[in-house]
Amino acid sequence: MIKCVSNKVGYPSASIAEEALLETHIRYDFGKTTGPVNIYRCEECGQYHLTSSGLMNERLASFIKEGELDKHRKAMQWVNKLKRL
Ligand SMILES: [Zn+2]
Repeated sequence: MIKCVSNKVGYPSASIAEEALLETHIRYDFGKTTGPVNIYRCEECGQYHLTSSGLMNERLASFIKEGELDKHRKAMQWVNKLKRL
């Protein structure tokens, strides 16, 4: 992985960065106003980063709207519970 001056995690492609964006929202409950909302291509390193400013990514927006985020989050909570057993 190439290190970026922004110190952000870099993703090699837009689709991988989108996956990471969704994953981040599953893992952490940001609510509606915080957390990364989109991805962008970095001019410094040529990779993709997550950003918390600007418009919401379309895939993330429909992910939340369709209830997929809640579904995944509940599934993950179960996985974590089972891990503790
Ligand atoms: Zn960068």
